[in-house]
Amino acid sequence: MKPLIGIPTRSQVDGDVTRYSGLATYTRALDLAGGAPVLIPLALDETTLRVIFDRLDGLLFQGGVDVHPGSYGEPVENYCGEIDTTRDATELMLLRWALAEKKPMLGICRGIQMMNVAAGGSLFQDIPAQLGSPIQHQHVKGNPYNLRAHTIEIDPQSKLARALGTTRIEANSLHHQSLKKIAPGFHVVARAPDGVIEGIEADDGHFALGLQFHPEWMVDDDARMIGVFQAFVQAVEHDARSTE
Ligand code: MN
Repeated sequence: MKPLIGIPTRSQVDGDVTRYSGLATYTRALDLAGGAPVLIPLALDETTLRVIFDRLDGLLFQGGVDVHPGSYGEPVENYCGEIDTTRDATELMLLRWALAEKKPMLGICRGIQMMNVAAGGSLFQDIPAQLGSPIQHQHVKGNPYNLRAHTIEIDPQSKLARALGTTRIEANSLHHQSLKKIAPGFHVVARAPDGVIEGIEADDGHFALGLQFHPEWMVDDDARMIGVFQAFVQAVEHDARSTE
């Protein structure tokens, strides 16, 4: 049976109407890789969320708005972007449970940032304001989401290098924040040429991979990119079998 992979949604509030959604690129990539993706609503009662969590074999944390800096003990600077505390609360709860139980997880863009924060790390609230870089990491309106913005150097010993079959890729870049302090229990496995962190993995070898770039947008023009989702689904399958 295909493993069940939960994706916490993003919220859109339009007057009295609130919608919870997920991007099709993530669900499609998981489907192609052999997983069975399901979207998780926000703002559920904790007991209800736990019922859903217990049925999931793995979790994918998708991209989106900025994590509230209060979650890593910093004030909201004026260069921090839009935040969504309802989404933060749901993702933090799921991540704390998943980290405690070593449930396999893949975090992309905001997902790597949320993983790092939930595990005790911190973020730069804006790369241009706090780090400065000749590289344009942020998406430019109108550019395609698969546009290659910079190279990424990958640790040859990492799960990411094995999944991609390479230690160097050209990748897209759709973020203005990045990881600052790496959470205890994690290490850096990928960086952009300016030093910006583009990937982390758990030290203990359980599948907890965070990526700042977006392989889901590149699966159609670089055959290696689906490897990330296949490695994740395989880890989820393996984990689901061993805990039955
Ligand atoms: Mn980047």
